[in-house]
Amino acid sequence: MNEISIPLGRDYADIRDVVDKICANFPGEYWRKMDEEGAYPEAFVHALTESGFLSALIPEEYGGVGLPLRAAAVIVETIHASGGSASACHAQMYIMGAILRHGSEEQKQKYLPRIASGELRLQAFAVTEPISGSDTTSLRTRAVRQGDKYIINGQKVWTSRALQSDLMLLLARTTPLSEVPKPTDGLSIFLVDMRDVVGHSMEIHPIDTMINHNTTEVFFDNMEIPADALIGEEGKGFRYVMSGMNAERVIIAGESLGDARFFIEKSTAYANERKIFGGAIGKNQGVQFPIARAYAETEAAELMARKAAALFDAGEPCGAEANIAKMLCAEAAWNAGEVCMQTHGGFAFAREYDIERKWREARLYLIAPISTNMILSYIGQHILGMPKSY
Ligand SMILES: Cc1cc2nc3c(=O)[nH]c(=O)nc-3n(C[C@H](O)[C@H](O)[C@H](O)COP(=O)(O)OP(=O)(O)OC[C@H]3O[C@@H](n4cnc5c(N)ncnc54)[C@H](O)[C@@H]3O)c2cc1C
Repeated sequence: MNEISIPLGRDYADIRDVVDKICANFPGEYWRKMDEEGAYPEAFVHALTESGFLSALIPEEYGGVGLPLRAAAVIVETIHASGGSASACHAQMYIMGAILRHGSEEQKQKYLPRIASGELRLQAFAVTEPISGSDTTSLRTRAVRQGDKYIINGQKVWTSRALQSDLMLLLARTTPLSEVPKPTDGLSIFLVDMRDVVGHSMEIHPIDTMINHNTTEVFFDNMEIPADALIGEEGKGFRYVMSGMNAERVIIAGESLGDARFFIEKSTAYANERKIFGGAIGKNQGVQFPIARAYAETEAAELMARKAAALFDAGEPCGAEANIAKMLCAEAAWNAGEVCMQTHGGFAFAREYDIERKWREARLYLIAPISTNMILSYIGQHILGMPKSY
């Protein structure tokens, strides 16, 4: 039997209070302006960096705050529940896990303290490609070793925050698919110092999207990087990326929970205050029950998110739990967003309420960083033992 304990109730109350205070300086007007201009929320990211919260997962010996993953999830949940978005900087929290878990001591000493202080931004994670999509092992970006260098050619898409990063974690194939026993072999991860290559052998083009996510496509044209940019062993990159994704899933689950809480709070307040036909709309069960259901779904999804974080923090396998948590929390947020739209009637469309912006933003997490179907097929095949579809 597993002895992991899962804290219930309002855990990390002190962190929630401090994050709430920071977020109070960045109200709806701020996020609406960023959204309208497609701008990077630099002031918010700066405030969060200064607070130390972005270094939550970096151990103290490397200059970070050294908190558990659960605390990181609480930080982003609080930001999202306040009406903001951590998506501009959440990756600064978890991408460095690849260095922490698989990098050499020299790489850790060189990068982690500077990432912890915010001097270096490592928040571009280049995995997805336009042709391979979710079929990651068939990606085409190639890294070829030549002496003390690797030469990289290929293309990535949806590489978020590439224009706001100094460093990029890049997944590329080092051994051709035809020469490896398993498709998951022969992929490697590299820590690319973008400052050396942007505008020369690395080109970045922003993608205009329905949310303000600072996402881009990136092209590599004979990009030379030093051989010591390789993290861990050559050919094992896919495994390294998968192990880091559990932290990413738990953090995204936290953001979705915050979104769900935002929608439920707004819906409840409006259902109580909007009076037509001689009373508050919330007295009608057609309005009240969907909000109550959204609350119930959110409470249940939160339990799975806490379980995934508890397993991760105890060093236990948590791939299934992290993915299920991400799926349930994203669905809870989306359902709560739908309820919030419906509760507000026409006013849901007025930008000043922030509901339509949060509704657009919450939709992302049913697709990225992994789409719902991929999680369902994992559950179907690997947990329930049904046939593989691909
Ligand atoms: C705003 C945004 C930011 C992003 N940021 C990043 C980033 O920073 N770094 C990065 O690497 N990627 C990023 N992504 C990419 C994201 O992870 C992918 O979009 C996502 O994994 C889905 O891949 P795809 O878009 O290629 O869809 P596809 O893989 O083409 O899939 C399309 C649809 O078909 C379904 N499908 C495909 N195959 C199957 C199957 N066998 N069974 C059932 N259903 C199937 C999928 O579930 C999906 O719904 C981002 C995407 C967006 C939109």
